[in-house]
Amino acid sequence: MTILSQVLKQCNFELETQIKPVRLTRIQIKDGRVTVIGRTERDINSFILQKQGWIIKTTLELDKQKKETNIVGDKIPYFGTWHAESYFSKMKTVNLNKSFRSALVIFAEAYLSQITKKFPKIKVWKMSRKLGGYSKKKNEIHLSVYLSFMPKRLIEYVIFHEYCHKFEQNHSKRFYALINTKYPFYKSLDKELKYWWRIKSLLLKKYPVLKNI
Ligand SMILES: [Zn+2]
Repeated sequence: MTILSQVLKQCNFELETQIKPVRLTRIQIKDGRVTVIGRTERDINSFILQKQGWIIKTTLELDKQKKETNIVGDKIPYFGTWHAESYFSKMKTVNLNKSFRSALVIFAEAYLSQITKKFPKIKVWKMSRKLGGYSKKKNEIHLSVYLSFMPKRLIEYVIFHEYCHKFEQNHSKRFYALINTKYPFYKSLDKELKYWWRIKSLLLKKYPVLKNI
């Protein structure tokens, strides 16, 4: 019990017990509270003893998640500028989803028009696994709406990547030779993308308003 209470204290969790006429002893982990509900004190104690490994593991994991979510602070990045949550709540009255999508389309078109006169059609989807894609059949560049959380130069890099798929479908040497013409340091950009993709997940967890984009 001592290790358990130490871990709970460290993670700002409290252990509570409730005696209730329940059929099976059970546990609830919610809002910084670990509650064990059982028929008798004896049931509760033996349950805690039996499950303490699991309780420790789960509380540590929840604590890690909470700390990670705090990394993003109280502002939301949007095309490289950080805004308070209220900025997006205001947008919501117009249509958050449409605002995000059209802003990304406009951004992508402005960027591609510097490279070519005839660029593929841009479509923005709610893709949470992929940053983007290219459809040869439709000659369309597909972008994830979540790119909007990234700095502009990274959004541009992703757009360029997808645009290069118009000429080379696979991630072959020839494909990277194309990327290299504009982004010789693409490997470090790929690392940055991974970081921002993680930030995206944290933002979605922290700000319910962003579920509407
Ligand atoms: Zn690709």
